[in-house]
Amino acid sequence: MNDDAKTDLVSRRGFLGVGSAALAAGMLSAVDAAGQDQKLYPTKTDRSATAPGPGNSQLDAQNPDSFLPPPTDAGGVATFKYPFGIAHKRMQEGGWSREVTVRELPVSKSMAGVDMRLTAGGIRELHWHTAAEWAFMLYGNARITGLDADGKSFVSDVTEGDLWYFPTGIPHSIQGLNSDGAEFLLVFDDGNFSEYETVLLTDWMAHTPHDVLSKNFGVSEQAMRKMPLREKFIFQAAVPGPLAADLKATSGSQGLSPVDFAFRTAQQPITKRTKGGEVLIVDSSKFKVSTTIAAAIITVHPGGIRELHWHPNADEWQYYISGTGRMTVFATGGRARTMDFQAGDVGYVLKTLPHYVQNTGDTDLKFLEMFKSSFYQDLALSEWLTHTPPELVMAHLGIDKATLDAIPKDEVVVMPK
Ligand code: MN
Ligand code: MN
Repeated sequence: MNDDAKTDLVSRRGFLGVGSAALAAGMLSAVDAAGQDQKLYPTKTDRSATAPGPGNSQLDAQNPDSFLPPPTDAGGVATFKYPFGIAHKRMQEGGWSREVTVRELPVSKSMAGVDMRLTAGGIRELHWHTAAEWAFMLYGNARITGLDADGKSFVSDVTEGDLWYFPTGIPHSIQGLNSDGAEFLLVFDDGNFSEYETVLLTDWMAHTPHDVLSKNFGVSEQAMRKMPLREKFIFQAAVPGPLAADLKATSGSQGLSPVDFAFRTAQQPITKRTKGGEVLIVDSSKFKVSTTIAAAIITVHPGGIRELHWHPNADEWQYYISGTGRMTVFATGGRARTMDFQAGDVGYVLKTLPHYVQNTGDTDLKFLEMFKSSFYQDLALSEWLTHTPPELVMAHLGIDKATLDAIPKDEVVVMPK
């Protein structure tokens, strides 16, 4: 890292509220209730910000809280960040796919994610899997198809901000539409999931004797001669025609599925809006079919913070859409780690561990929180402290009544600067 970058990091640390002089001295101190100086980090008096050895200045600049951790960080905490940008990208004609699973991010045992791109006409082939699939449209337009558990057809067009959900074993497909196809995030309710191990139509057909297919379909073996010999996974095709035509063609004698596997977030009222930002919570209370994944779509304005909180019911799988932020996960027993996040990063927080997400940039920070649960649930530190006998709280924290009274009584989700 060059000197300019180092200076920038140190001044930025100051901006974030920790004096660079204190860092240079290698310790923080505070005055306790009895007026006595408490040395918070007495063993780190030789702490220094310099790093003269080999380094990657661009990586350091993107990860200031790793380059120079806040003094409140301590001990080993399992890594909870993995950028899609360094995940293997499976390239196909018609699009690509990359995944972040428990293999890339070992802490993420309960959920996994896939970032997928389809060109206009590009098809993610007909398939299903052992995990349920929750999706968020990041860009463009796509047509999704499915078959419900009663054998009725579902076809819908989705656009940026829309969601879909296909339960375990429910077959589906995705195809990019005009003008430039789509990119979307898929989240699965199993950290061990892999896009490479789904039940694919072409893979299945390629591994079934043609005389069996012939009997099964009541057609000649000759008619099967062009069946692919291996899976297609993603492939290029023509852009499909109007949605109405596909709906008509698939309704058959049974009619279309009454189940809506898609969800339009743009048509939903924001769940909570404060000066600091806003949150839209989407769980099975609104998106009925999404029984194993609950989500919160969060926007934090510059200077704002997604307040200190935890989730009693599930691990949190995060995807950062835009802006920059940092998150500290307090992992009990004196352990805490702060990591920085950019667009395209995956974050993960184990069930019940306290955390916050702070906007560290000058544009809106937008990210997704997903949980393997039918319902969204969180508790905020402020909520806890203001619904506990005041004397009890003050005895713990050494704060006076005026300070306690100033703490918000209700969960605010996103605190303003
Ligand atoms: Mn799928
Ligand atoms: Mn959270």
